[in-house]
Amino acid sequence: MCGIIGIVLRYQRALSKPLGSVIKGCLKNLEYRGYDSVGFALASSNSLVIRKSKGKIDEVDVKLAFDDFDGICGVGHTRWATHGKPSDINAHPLTDCSKRIVVVHNGIIENYLELKEELIRRGHRFESETDTEVVPHLIEEFKKLGMNSYDAFKKAASLLRGTYALAVIDTDEPGRIYFARNTSPLVIGIRDDATFLASDIPAFIDYTRKVIVIQDDEVGYISGSDVRIEKLVSKSYEVDLTPPICELVDYSSRIRHIDWTPEMAKKGGYPHFMLKEIHEQPQAIASTLSSLANEVKDVLKLISKADRVLIVGAGTSYHASFVGSILLSELAEVKSHAIISSEMKWYSRSVDECDVVIAVSQSGETIDTLLAVREARRRGALTIALTNVIDSTLARESHLTIYTRAGPEVGVAATKTFSAQVVALTYLALSLAEYRSTLSTNKLNELKNSLRSLPDYVSSTISATEPRARSLASLISSKQNAYYLGRGLGLPVSMEGALKLKEVAYIHAESYPAGESKHGPIALVDEGFPVFFTILGSNDGELIISNVEEMKARGALTIAVIPSNLDRIHKYFNYAFIMHPVPYEVAPSLYIIPHQLLAYYTAVTLGYDPDKPRNLAKTVTVV
Ligand code: GLU
Repeated sequence: MCGIIGIVLRYQRALSKPLGSVIKGCLKNLEYRGYDSVGFALASSNSLVIRKSKGKIDEVDVKLAFDDFDGICGVGHTRWATHGKPSDINAHPLTDCSKRIVVVHNGIIENYLELKEELIRRGHRFESETDTEVVPHLIEEFKKLGMNSYDAFKKAASLLRGTYALAVIDTDEPGRIYFARNTSPLVIGIRDDATFLASDIPAFIDYTRKVIVIQDDEVGYISGSDVRIEKLVSKSYEVDLTPPICELVDYSSRIRHIDWTPEMAKKGGYPHFMLKEIHEQPQAIASTLSSLANEVKDVLKLISKADRVLIVGAGTSYHASFVGSILLSELAEVKSHAIISSEMKWYSRSVDECDVVIAVSQSGETIDTLLAVREARRRGALTIALTNVIDSTLARESHLTIYTRAGPEVGVAATKTFSAQVVALTYLALSLAEYRSTLSTNKLNELKNSLRSLPDYVSSTISATEPRARSLASLISSKQNAYYLGRGLGLPVSMEGALKLKEVAYIHAESYPAGESKHGPIALVDEGFPVFFTILGSNDGELIISNVEEMKARGALTIAVIPSNLDRIHKYFNYAFIMHPVPYEVAPSLYIIPHQLLAYYTAVTLGYDPDKPRNLAKTVTVV
């Protein structure tokens, strides 16, 4: 995820400052979306300036000298690397061979490798390691083949698979910025003397509140006084001269005046980052899934040869590790164990070169996890990082890396990075199962299809469960304690649910295997004590009923997260979040959603700020 901005002025200095300064201000408002590199390009009728660097805006401001540059049309970018490490060369904007076409991009071009090979075959020279760079070269190629600038852009956009919000300047048309969107957000801001294009409204909120939200598969351009939007109705994936079929869009009814404060705008209209990030999970999962194939391919053979796989993580990442260890064992018959990073020390004497250690950390900087990796490496194990941050210390210090692509997470309590980690580990387990032929073809296909459909299920689950989470929050906010019980994969989901409630609502919450609850924890249960049961499918559903009965007999308030097709046992619970039934193995990242929402709304009901829970830091760099 990153932030892009594009501005076209009606006349020079329309916004009373050099355009470089305006772009800097807009980018600063987008820095929360990504922040490893920054760059801009400014065009006027006879010149094009491109300046970019690794680093945050404030760090590189002096070097880039935004304020010294002016123009009539400009684009800017704050990058959060997905393909190619953060570096000056990989920073956006990226250009074609002639350096006359500049592109900024948010997202992942999934088919960039095949496009890049084709373009290299046709004589194009690439400078960066990014997926994005195929876009300017494609436009250049279609222009060379005879298309005009705008048609060449549309043709290039129609060839892209993956997620993208693009802003493009072609110096042959210096008064326009072309745009295209698929999945990654893009909005237009309008005023009389300038038009803006950005990843998010806060970018330009200081200049205009009149906006149009661009939809998927729309392409078009902005000029100083005009907006053109077309819908791409046919795509062809051939590098030929067939133009894509587009229909002109009448957007007059889509122009909105927004009345958010700049702070609200940064959160996309959500009151807190945590809620925004819960809602971003479909996109986080889709981006993660879109880029796993290559990374996972490299590790299959190595993991398959290992004696055992140890998955280490801390906090939420440990819960994802736990899901991963169950799935590696159940689906791929790989001996695997999840270990809390800070406890790894006590197992390390048995670690040797026959082991693989997968280290899970959102930030890639968690010191406990890093120490575990260093020790495992020293003892000869193969280490694989699973992290959300490109080129983080964990990624650099591990032999191999698998990236989650959830985008930056601002809320301290992890939400979308958990789903992305779980999805990545599920994908790994399924790929291993395929590689080792441990599942029937039918089962494998069923699970793969369900995993692919997860973004849609997650999206409908958020809408379906949010009202109940909001209403239950007032009941839970009056409680001092809660238990979260589950079996199998329902256990790590329960542990994560309990952690969320503790972290943001400061309610004492513990999680146990449901079968363990009678071996001690039940002693605390009395009238109205909340007990959550997370039931992912019929196997754990049948077994758990006796645990539910035991709790009810002590007066517990029972709340289930349970699939709709287990309706015969819904009646055992005081409240239930009724979930879309999906195969048990892919259920964890779906069934965590009501828990995240309930923790969030309970915190808000109690008057706490869920984005900044007391005593907690987003990245824990102390042992
Ligand atoms: N995939 C592009 C890159 O790695 C864009 C990443 C982003 O959205 O920031 O450069």
